[in-house]
Amino acid sequence: MKEVRTRFAPSPTGFMHIGNLRTAIFEYLLAKKNNGKFILRIEDTDQERLVEGSIDFIYKTLELCNFVIDEGPNNEGEVGPYIQSQRKEIYKKYALELVEKGYAYYCFCTEERLTKLREVASLNKTPFMYDGHCKKLSQEEIEEKLKNNEPYVIRQKMPKEGQTIINDLVYGEVLIENSVLEDQILLKSDGYPTYNFANVVDDHLMQITHVIRGKEYLDQTAKYNLLYDAFGWEKPIYIHVAMVLGEDGNKLSKRNKDASFMDLYNEGYLPQAIVNYLVLLGWSPKDNQEIFSIDELIEAFDPTRISKSSSSYDVKKLRWFNAHYIKELNKDQIVKLCLPFLQESYDLKDKTITWIQHLIEIYQNHLSYGKEIVELTELFFKEDITLDEECRQFMQQETVEKTINTLKQELENIQDWTVENIKEAINKTKEKAGVKGKMLYMPIRIKVSGQMHGPELPDTIYLLGKETVLKRLSR
Ligand code: GLU
Repeated sequence: MKEVRTRFAPSPTGFMHIGNLRTAIFEYLLAKKNNGKFILRIEDTDQERLVEGSIDFIYKTLELCNFVIDEGPNNEGEVGPYIQSQRKEIYKKYALELVEKGYAYYCFCTEERLTKLREVASLNKTPFMYDGHCKKLSQEEIEEKLKNNEPYVIRQKMPKEGQTIINDLVYGEVLIENSVLEDQILLKSDGYPTYNFANVVDDHLMQITHVIRGKEYLDQTAKYNLLYDAFGWEKPIYIHVAMVLGEDGNKLSKRNKDASFMDLYNEGYLPQAIVNYLVLLGWSPKDNQEIFSIDELIEAFDPTRISKSSSSYDVKKLRWFNAHYIKELNKDQIVKLCLPFLQESYDLKDKTITWIQHLIEIYQNHLSYGKEIVELTELFFKEDITLDEECRQFMQQETVEKTINTLKQELENIQDWTVENIKEAINKTKEKAGVKGKMLYMPIRIKVSGQMHGPELPDTIYLLGKETVLKRLSR
């Protein structure tokens, strides 16, 4: 059997939205499931040049997700170059081959003429379609124009009748009327190929067996199939995937300020959580399993279970996954995740590293993303706490005053400020004030932290320090 080869083919914009990343995940999983290769190809034909650093950025993103790129611009295999702007000669050669075979033709139409055609189309309210004017040029006319260095493009010659079939693993058989296919440009006047041409040439030369890409390319694939047929090349297996929509129901984009992978990463979302969340956007396993390691995903991934309908990015669900993975971090990892956010927001000069570690640890089970540590721990860094209405209501209850006063006494008596001794003080308060459960813990928690919920109370009191706690209990 042929080696399975998939490719991730982003444009080098230095920005990867989560829809792009999801495509990469599917491509990676499919390759690895079949012991195949995952290839990175940079599609930069629409741009004058690469956005600086964006290739390294793509490598970094995939590396953070633990996806190894088997071949790409930074680790070439045998089918390079892996950057389209470095493959211009290749596209030209193949475009000319199609001209030779009669499947493509030179077009010398000026911008002026095309603008007129567009205007007419717009007046008639019909979609613009090139009228095939240059298809009729004689060999002599073409040679004359080439000799005079007239600018030209090369266009694909579409059949005017019949239908073209697209076979897609997700959408099944799709029929496209050839009459709607425009004689599209393959090679532009600047010598660059269009995406519509380059993707076919590259996928063939790079021996790509499975093409996974956005559904917006599905109908276009008729044109690609005609190109494969014209060359006599074998078509890849197509897997078109429905879009991931933003929380507002619109297409994800940088302009809409939608989260990119790096934005999420920089806020303390864990790559494995992002990957786990994304793979389930538009794909589902046979059972209801939700938490997957990469190896389990490789095992379970079945591209025929990719959904036909679009899915919506839901940050709450992502946070649920992330919270799960945060709980699984060891001590070093959780500190590494949270410390930078604390350093950025608070003055930690007079805090010991042990204190900071302890603080982070007690919040591990409360965090849904790393940066959240800042708001959760605010009560340790500000002088005053204010109580909301619910807390104030609670504090009206009869036993509260006695509980607080008793605890204050007990804490004042502590010589050695340890979590154990604080626990002991709370136990004594329970006995002496005759309260238990919620009526014991809640007033204390509210008084020292200003909140009704939080991590272990003795740890919280310990970390706040004797002075602060006594001050808060006295108010
Ligand atoms: N460069 C294209 C994109 O980012 C790739 C589409 C494809 O995978 O063929 O949408």
